[in-house]
Amino acid sequence: MVDALVMGSGPAGLSIAAALCREGLDVMGLSPTPPSEKWMNTYGIWWDELEPFGLTGLLSHHWSDCVVYAHQDEIPLHRSYGLLDKDKLQAYFLEQCEKGKVSWHQGIGASLKHTPHGSVVTTQAGADLAARVVIDASGHQPAFIQRPSSPIAYQAAYGIVGRFSSPPVRPQQFVLMDYRSDHLSAVERTEPATFLYAMDLGNDVYFVEETSLANRPAVSFEVLEQRLYRRLSFMGVEVKEVHHVERCLFPMNLPLPFLDQPVFGFGGAASMVHPASGYLVGSLLRHAPAVAASIARALDHETASPIHIAQSAWHTLWTPERIRKRSLYLFGLDNLMQFEEENLHRFFATFFRLPLPQWSGFLADALSMPELLQAMLGLFSHTTNGVRKELIRSAWHERKLLWHVLMT
Ligand SMILES: Cc1cc2nc3c(=O)[nH]c(=O)nc-3n(C[C@H](O)[C@H](O)[C@H](O)COP(=O)(O)OP(=O)(O)OC[C@H]3O[C@@H](n4cnc5c(N)ncnc54)[C@H](O)[C@@H]3O)c2cc1C
Repeated sequence: MVDALVMGSGPAGLSIAAALCREGLDVMGLSPTPPSEKWMNTYGIWWDELEPFGLTGLLSHHWSDCVVYAHQDEIPLHRSYGLLDKDKLQAYFLEQCEKGKVSWHQGIGASLKHTPHGSVVTTQAGADLAARVVIDASGHQPAFIQRPSSPIAYQAAYGIVGRFSSPPVRPQQFVLMDYRSDHLSAVERTEPATFLYAMDLGNDVYFVEETSLANRPAVSFEVLEQRLYRRLSFMGVEVKEVHHVERCLFPMNLPLPFLDQPVFGFGGAASMVHPASGYLVGSLLRHAPAVAASIARALDHETASPIHIAQSAWHTLWTPERIRKRSLYLFGLDNLMQFEEENLHRFFATFFRLPLPQWSGFLADALSMPELLQAMLGLFSHTTNGVRKELIRSAWHERKLLWHVLMT
């Protein structure tokens, strides 16, 4: 029986397997594909989220000219953004795994049983894999993690990497959000708002992606594609070559898993996607070491049961303070989904003009509860009456939740 069985070899699976190996544990990975199989998604991250780990060398591109367009204004962000070289990131995690004690089994986990001394995952092919604890990192629709049900909002995006008749953004520029919508009719502007996420990749190649931050139900890829082409045509830009198409869809507000289950989750499976931004990779890097250390400590007790080990990891990942902050992020997300276009633009125009440590800390979940409240109050006091009215209306509607969050 190994110490830990990690299911999945996406960013979450490899990051937690690497951290467990660094703890000197005996780890088995279970994944339908070899762990070195190339990842499909494009992962972006802020430079300062990688810097503390000395991992900025894992970026394939980075930009210091980073902006947001909201309410017709260009807002400079004064913060550098990067695109991860996903092959390098994957190789980095695999190297950490190989320095420790890891073995990989190719297969799909189909069922899970627990005994007082360990857990057994049976694969679709019928192999039984035993471990003292199972870590389910099988993504946003996990194999074994249980959670309450609730309506889900999705981030959706349609993007193309290619060459254009003229630059869709300034050379060497990164656009986090361009909410300008002059290309849409008045009726279309009452439909869910979408924005452009775009960057110069060098050699006359650009990535442009029409994105819906969060919507219930998700905005369709057809609408996003059509809006992207209309936006480009309004800018007088024609697509000349398409090198790659990205279709992105993932849940933004999955409820927290039950924290008393005998299997632990990590990554999308553990609702770690930030509900205000959709980012996950920074959070994996920040939390994997502490979670792995708590698992190692729990395993030191020879008689510890799977539930005991999983619970110590759940409580390290989802501390009471992080749970309360998450409620505030979800409250914010729910607000944004209901805002009319004008208020949405005004909201972002104020948000990205908050002091840098406030808006960046908000997006990275790096603020303490008092700091988060200070940022939210700052936003409230600097924004327009229209946005304030919306926030007050929602706060009244959600008064029980807010009272609970603020008073516990
Ligand atoms: C197109 C796209 C772009 C994104 N861009 C960003 C970004 O720029 N920055 C960012 O931080 N986040 C981004 N995200 C969000 C998030 O980071 C990703 O969704 C991320 O891939 C989730 O990582 P994960 O490891 O939890 O799950 P996944 O990447 O989905 O990996 C799940 C793994 O589990 C395996 N698996 C599934 N079922 C089983 C089973 N039964 N048994 C064993 N193994 C199983 C799968 O084969 C896979 O290896 C993006 C998401 C998408 C879809």
